[in-house]
Amino acid sequence: MTDPAERKRTAILALTRRGGRLAAKLAERLDADLLLTRRAGGAGESLVEDVIATLQQLFLAGRPIIALAASGIVIRALAPVLLAKRLEPPVVVMTEDGAEVIPLLGGHRGANALAREAAAITGGHAAISTAGERALGIALDAPPAGWVLENPEDAGAAMAALLDGAGLEIAGDPAGAAAWLAPLDGRAGSGDAADGRPVVRLHFGPGAPSPGDAPTQGRILLKYRPQRFVLGLGCARDCPPDELRRLAESVLAEAGVVPAALHSIATIDIKADEAAINELARDWRCPVQFFTADELEKETPRSTSPSRIVRAEVGTHGVAENAALAAVGAAGRLAVAKRKSAMATAALAEGPAPIGVFRGRPRGRLAVVGIGPGAAAWRTPEASRLVAEADELVGYGLYLDLLGPLARGRKRVEFPLGDEEARCRHALEAAGAGRRVALVSSGDAGIYAMGALVCELLDRPADQGGVSDAARRVEIVFAPGITAMQAASARVGTLLGHDFCAISLSDLLTPRETILARIAAAAQGDFVIGFYNPVSRRRQDLLVKARDMLLQHRPADTPVVLARNLGRADEGVEIVRLADLAPARVDMLTVVLVGASTSRRFRQGGVDRAYTPRGYARKLDAENGP
Ligand code: SAH
Repeated sequence: MTDPAERKRTAILALTRRGGRLAAKLAERLDADLLLTRRAGGAGESLVEDVIATLQQLFLAGRPIIALAASGIVIRALAPVLLAKRLEPPVVVMTEDGAEVIPLLGGHRGANALAREAAAITGGHAAISTAGERALGIALDAPPAGWVLENPEDAGAAMAALLDGAGLEIAGDPAGAAAWLAPLDGRAGSGDAADGRPVVRLHFGPGAPSPGDAPTQGRILLKYRPQRFVLGLGCARDCPPDELRRLAESVLAEAGVVPAALHSIATIDIKADEAAINELARDWRCPVQFFTADELEKETPRSTSPSRIVRAEVGTHGVAENAALAAVGAAGRLAVAKRKSAMATAALAEGPAPIGVFRGRPRGRLAVVGIGPGAAAWRTPEASRLVAEADELVGYGLYLDLLGPLARGRKRVEFPLGDEEARCRHALEAAGAGRRVALVSSGDAGIYAMGALVCELLDRPADQGGVSDAARRVEIVFAPGITAMQAASARVGTLLGHDFCAISLSDLLTPRETILARIAAAAQGDFVIGFYNPVSRRRQDLLVKARDMLLQHRPADTPVVLARNLGRADEGVEIVRLADLAPARVDMLTVVLVGASTSRRFRQGGVDRAYTPRGYARKLDAENGP
């Protein structure tokens, strides 16, 4: 796996000739990629045709950006893709003369530093807007790579206190953080003056501060934890979460290490879906990495208690110690050897320095996402976030195109319509390999779409056409979307105002008799009906049959909504009479909503409306009656 903290190449983008000249100089000094519009002198590799799309692509690819452009252009371009906080790279805007350099996004994730660096080259001014950093020259809540602040909620008060002249103490071993602390040089040690001033104490180390260090009146304690430790865990299937947690806590206590100093938890890949491990990781906000039995077996010479029984069961002589050692790498060592409870094992390994990399794989995630009918405004924020966070988008090309900027420049695996099984299998197996995959459907992914097929594949034994064990262990998130019949109802008013049902007229997977029986039942029950897949090139008759069956139970002028390409460029919505419903007015991209016997139609504000009353009329009539 790649290191999430890995810095990608900076891209410098300029729109004007003058900006282009400065950008070229900056690109050379910062060893960055140069991107220019035609006006700015772009040609070949460097040429940018579409500024907005390019900015969005760079951002979603996690590339640091310096844009010699108006901040408004950059803000508008990035607003639709701001959801992927995990990836959010630093974004800096610079005037074309280099005089003003503004870190727009990711100030504490490199933008302030990048702005300062760029301003030093142009002789300009870096407009740092993060308050404490501006005054102190350091952001206490953004320690350097390899360190985390355990209590970021106290950083604001600490900054404010320092600005008010509080004393400063630095305790523990801030190895590797010296450059970051440099702006505070000269202040450290200023806390022991017995003049009653408040004191900010920065504690560097993996263990709990000594009791005398506890925050007291007038003392703010910030705890910085080196990411040097990995907790190896193993357990039997369905180990109680409490048992695993107690064991893990006791191992950490033995080493004098707090959970915040854990770089990660490590285990064997067959535990990817073990609830006890995933729960502990979630509560401790600690990533989990997984190793294969073969990878773990390589660590056996370094382990203290190789077991033939374990080897026979899972293919490696040990899990907890081996996983911890594999994760810290060759330079690391065991800090606490294997400890056992009834159903679990735990061991702690330690690296000589912060562990920057993940040597194992993460648990894969499959997001089954419904993106609504088409328009971005009809897509839930959850769906957009899952798409933005995915390493890979899987779906029918048209649906991926509907995502617009969110899908641009991303890894896409397209499958033609009709290849649903291959599409779902691919998505599950890709997630099984440790990737984050978004399987994209239009409307709601659980309504005549991929959701059910994903469940069917997971619910089937591997030797009977099911998916691999790895695919079975992934995390799966189902994200609902606005389905076509909701959108159609809303376009005309509220045809779904009372009891309704949905029937797909596709007879590819459902026998015709079943479809006809359901239409009969819905007709009998006087439900409003949403017909999905109303016709296909070769099947038109079912819609005609449905109309004729319904006409026996509801009036000829029952309103019917024909809604085509909802939320897309060539949307068309009309209301017709049930008696006039004909296949010629309908195609595969249409959803047909047939009203109930009570549904009505009226004109309002110059447009046709249709609705199904809930029965308030009776109440209103009674109140306003003669
Ligand atoms: N999961 C989708 C349904 C897929 S089945 C959803 O929840 O909406 C395909 C059928 O859905 C089409 O034949 C059509 O009847 C309907 N449909 C899907 N998107 C549509 C849209 N944008 N406008 C109108 N009908 C649509």
